[in-house]
Amino acid sequence: MAVTSFPTRLLLGPGPSNVSARVLEALAQPLVGHLDPAFLATLDEVQERLRRLFGTRNELTLPLSTTGSGGMEACLANLLEPGDRAVVGVAGVFGERMCEVARRIGADVTRVETEPGTALDAAAMREAIARTEPVVVAFVHAETSTGVCQPVEPIARPAREAGAFVVLDCVTSLAGLPLALDAWGVDAAYSGTQKCLSCPPGLSPASFAPRALERVAARRRPVQSWYLDVSLLAGYYGSERVYHHTAPVSMIAALAEGLRRVEEEGMAAREARHREASAALLRELEPLGFAPLVEARVRLPMLSAMRLPDWVIARGEARLRRELLERHGIEVGGGLGKLAGSIWRIGLMGENARLSSVERLVAALRRERG
Ligand SMILES: *Cc1c(COP(=O)(O)O)cnc(C)c1O
Repeated sequence: MAVTSFPTRLLLGPGPSNVSARVLEALAQPLVGHLDPAFLATLDEVQERLRRLFGTRNELTLPLSTTGSGGMEACLANLLEPGDRAVVGVAGVFGERMCEVARRIGADVTRVETEPGTALDAAAMREAIARTEPVVVAFVHAETSTGVCQPVEPIARPAREAGAFVVLDCVTSLAGLPLALDAWGVDAAYSGTQKCLSCPPGLSPASFAPRALERVAARRRPVQSWYLDVSLLAGYYGSERVYHHTAPVSMIAALAEGLRRVEEEGMAAREARHREASAALLRELEPLGFAPLVEARVRLPMLSAMRLPDWVIARGEARLRRELLERHGIEVGGGLGKLAGSIWRIGLMGENARLSSVERLVAALRRERG
């Protein structure tokens, strides 16, 4: 029997992005135990590199054994108890998901919504914070469903001043844009490995400020999720390294390699590379009739939401995406939620933020248009 075999694709959707040969090599290392000194040294390295990338000194900075959505669940489930009030910014599908997660925890959620393709209105968030005096204020830094980059400080600062805990979704921004959790006053943040880190999906890098851990310690009742309870996770991901659950050793080896690449390149150069690639994408797609959904001021560099030209609509946008995949080996993302059928989401994340990715996509689209 042959081993599982997948085709080689160019992954230009909203994640996963392609991984480097070095990351694949790290994944294929011999397995060691989750308490093996060789592995623990790698875990230490990963945690330290994640602190630098998140812009934090938070001791509890760790790769959670779950995807980005599990990181969302972890941040909200630890900080919220049933009946607590939360203000959640909704600029797209992932803000909406935060509302749903918080509601299932039993929180009393106030949603502050904005039109898809626009950033949250900081004044509307401040008003909701002043009115409801929430325990948690949560929002998304890089809204992958719309391609909007949310300015963090104008919301985080008033939230902290009002005594709330700030939860930030950094799934798509980590390793694509510089982060400064400590300077911004973010108490809990989570990400994912399959976007700008260019690692396989399956881990959620996350960080919890001491202030957040004090809040967890003072809870009236235990965190509903045993698996994601940070006070228990701290036993293994802190200095003691006592067993809680079996850490995904191979995935963490891959993440270590992904993080080394980020630091070798440097975050400033990496951000510039993402910006150059997305500028080239927009320039090349314009003659084909695609137009950006988001205004330049708040446009993400790693994920471009593009309004579709008539020739794509006439052809059937879902059909054309399938043809791009089957004939050209290129994956792009369709619209989500209200934007389904009217936009594409084109990711140039991590390893894929290169002019060569843009050229391949544009050449394939030119051929398909005829
Ligand atoms: C991808 C994504 C998530 C969800 O991550 P999964 O790894 O798919 O669970 C959450 N938030 C944002 C902004 C994302 O882009």
